[in-house]
Amino acid sequence: MGGDGGSIPKRIELVRSRQKPEQVAKEAELAARWRHCQLSQELLNRPIVACHLGRMYNKTAALEFLLDREKYGTSGAFEHIRSLRDLRELKLADNPEGQEKAASSSAAGAGAAAASAASPFACPLSGVEMNGRFRFVFPWSCGCALAEKAVDQLLKSAPNRQSLACPSCQQPDAMSDLIVLNPATDAEVAAASEAMVARKRKLRQESKSNKSSKSAAAAPAAAKRKQQPAESASASSTGSKIARPSGSSIQNNPKASAALKSLLTSSKEAKAQDKAHWVTFNPGYFR
Ligand SMILES: [Zn+2]
Repeated sequence: MGGDGGSIPKRIELVRSRQKPEQVAKEAELAARWRHCQLSQELLNRPIVACHLGRMYNKTAALEFLLDREKYGTSGAFEHIRSLRDLRELKLADNPEGQEKAASSSAAGAGAAAASAASPFACPLSGVEMNGRFRFVFPWSCGCALAEKAVDQLLKSAPNRQSLACPSCQQPDAMSDLIVLNPATDAEVAAASEAMVARKRKLRQESKSNKSSKSAAAAPAAAKRKQQPAESASASSTGSKIARPSGSSIQNNPKASAALKSLLTSSKEAKAQDKAHWVTFNPGYFR
């Protein structure tokens, strides 16, 4: 700094030149993307999902969009979201500083305050704030949002990145398919959509080969996979605020087979039976 006698300030240090208005608008728009659902334009709140192109949405808005594609009056920008399979729920780590700052800024007022406030989310590895100033990526297989720098560092030391597990949740082979969150340049968007085409083709082939091998071994594996989201939801609800959807009973799941449903104590048969449950006391019976 000049003016303290230690150095002679130059003009450029004293005269603050104004930023070009379009540059300011662009930066504000980029910052807003990290805070708002791209569909509803509301503030992002857990549960948050991301698409193949790395855009972020509130899960409720995304579900509404899947039910009614005209709801948000979009002009084909979300054509690539055809079903729930095109969305991945993001696992976002809390930014400890963000909670306090967000609370104080909401009292002060929205707009500029919200833009300058700390992000509620951060990288679980490096603690870097998710405010748009740093690039973030997530593995498609698990959805953990990680700072790209932290991931780069990890990959540098790993000889075989294809088989690397997610450093946050230990999901195996996660690092082979990373998606950039909120790609800023056209080239990044183009790369993301290219990767999306390849990913969808791969998933389609995988599901085809799964279907063709209709073995008995496939059934328990499928049931296990269905239980996983419920487990992770209940586990994380203790630590964070992810609420489990009310209608998530396997009895209401149209994809679950009748045989699987009848095995559970929540089934119609188990509730209607007039003798004590065969494994243990069944509280559902006396309801
Ligand atoms: Zn993960």
